[in-house]
Amino acid sequence: MEQPTPAGILKTVFGYDEFRPHQREIIERLVGGGDALVLMPTGGGKSLCYQIPAMVRPGTGIVVSPLIALMQDQVEALRQLGIRAAFLNSMLDQQAAWEVEQALLAGDLDLLYVAPERLMMPRMLELLDQAEIALFAIDEAHCVSQWGHDFRPEYIQLSVLHERFPAIPRIALTATADGPTRREIVERLDLAKAEQFISGFDRPNIRYRIAENTGNARDRLLRFLRQEHDGEAGIVYCLTRKKVDQTAEWLQGKGLVVLPYHAGLPAEVREVNQQRFLREDGVIIVATIAFGMGIDKPDVRFVAHLNLPKSLEAYYQETGRAGRDGASADAWMLYGLSDVIMLRQMQASSEAGEEHKRVERHKLDAMLGFCELTTCRRQALLRYFGDELEQPCGNCDTCLEAPETWDATVPAQMALSCVHRTGQRFGVNYLVGVLLGKEDERIQRFGHDRIPTYGIGTDLDQNEWRNLYRQLIARGLLAVDIEGYGGLQLTEACRPVLRGDVTLQLRKLAKRAAVRKSRSRKATQFSEPADIELFDRLRERRLELSKEQGVPAYVIFHDATLAEMVERRPASIQQMAEISGVGERKLSAYGEAFLDTIAAGHDRGHQDR
Ligand code: ADP
Ligand code: ZN
Repeated sequence: MEQPTPAGILKTVFGYDEFRPHQREIIERLVGGGDALVLMPTGGGKSLCYQIPAMVRPGTGIVVSPLIALMQDQVEALRQLGIRAAFLNSMLDQQAAWEVEQALLAGDLDLLYVAPERLMMPRMLELLDQAEIALFAIDEAHCVSQWGHDFRPEYIQLSVLHERFPAIPRIALTATADGPTRREIVERLDLAKAEQFISGFDRPNIRYRIAENTGNARDRLLRFLRQEHDGEAGIVYCLTRKKVDQTAEWLQGKGLVVLPYHAGLPAEVREVNQQRFLREDGVIIVATIAFGMGIDKPDVRFVAHLNLPKSLEAYYQETGRAGRDGASADAWMLYGLSDVIMLRQMQASSEAGEEHKRVERHKLDAMLGFCELTTCRRQALLRYFGDELEQPCGNCDTCLEAPETWDATVPAQMALSCVHRTGQRFGVNYLVGVLLGKEDERIQRFGHDRIPTYGIGTDLDQNEWRNLYRQLIARGLLAVDIEGYGGLQLTEACRPVLRGDVTLQLRKLAKRAAVRKSRSRKATQFSEPADIELFDRLRERRLELSKEQGVPAYVIFHDATLAEMVERRPASIQQMAEISGVGERKLSAYGEAFLDTIAAGHDRGHQDR
């Protein structure tokens, strides 16, 4: 048989016409027997980088991954493509594991996924001695880093692979890629000779949008879900378990398909909810940050934050779960003053050492600064990670609708002065009450209805004052007191403003946030009713097939593939074969079924006319 080429496999097995950046070079490096370290953002297409060489080289590619819960779906997706794949982990019973081992020894596997603790067992290593191995792929390689949050002790032992199997090429892959972690991966996995392939961090299909929470966050979330992501899958992050439960329940009451996820739920419930999210179409998960590690569902169309993440690293990672398939996706966030105060308090009262607290404070400051930006968010985000984007991106809220700024110097002086005159003990609600001249029993009791700042602030309304205070905190002109009452205190940095030495340009409170007017922007955007209708029927068809097979819907075809079918309306098997994402195996398994669905729509269209 003729030796298959990487480009040939890309087309016939995966149904794709072109490699993404770096894929070809990485594949060639491994096929030639060299090692590689790959840093590629989520959705960049890391898996092909070891899957294709494993098929080109003789023997089985061994894939080490910590994400046991996902292995079954990953393997199923490969089998759907006609690739001979299997997995070995603690979820298999003895008999099933034995069969996989025999298949490995017989050379009947292209790819074998193994949990790291399993791989390190002496028995497993002896088995590998007897098998023919094409390569080792170490996925989620940052798990080797002791400083990261995903540290797995078993990963450290993976350097054994190099000692025991020196002739077999290795590829380590990760999406987490700061310099220290990268160096740690190289050192601990003995990859000094590996060629490094480093892609930028940009996720161009994700649209970043951040707006002030003016107290109606839930309604705005609902509007966002209904108008822009009707029937689509996504994640809503909240800070606390309680808020997760409340939000999920409220959205369910509005008729949406919503499931909660947090560490306080029983393990079975979490498992079921996660599986439904992965396998069904259009499920929304409302979750704390406990949800997400290794969620490689490709068609997550939005990630919404109802609270501020504690750092830009967290924001990038959480939003990065959207749009892995490359189709457009939203990173949507509302944040408000209370988030800022709560996070500052949590940090201040934590048990961590001073040095650690200082780092956390800087990270939160960077996150806040990012929220208050009046320039391109993507440029700022990439710059934070050491990447440059030359032009503003055109796909974030500040690019799409430049935020207005205003000279807030005088109101800022009033706000600061009010803090000073009330003794630096009070929270924002109280201060705003004083500025607006509210008739309030507490204000009277403290005698603050007789100070000069009482009632001088009626030019602005309550929301505008809160917005102003938030920005003053975000810029470090005010601090939140650490006793935990949320009182505001002046900092050194506010002096130049109070003296009038500097002016202060601030973001204006957006009328209705920088959130788009109401134009629906679905990932797969069709304006013709016939197209929308066909797309829906293709998705129905896909759902039926996925239920028959017991696999997630996206394993049959991605949204992008269905969308291309809508656009091109293939009418024959040959035309169907040209659609991106339709390889030979899927063509023979599903080609006819989808051709029927398309043809049925065509007939219906004619009858209507
Ligand atoms: P990562 O592991 O880097 O997050 P994946 O390997 O899961 O990304 O790939 C993300 C998506 O992109 C998958 O749906 C995959 O099928 C698709 N993909 C990968 N390479 C290509 C390509 N060359 N052309 C089209 N789609 C691709
Ligand atoms: Zn931008």
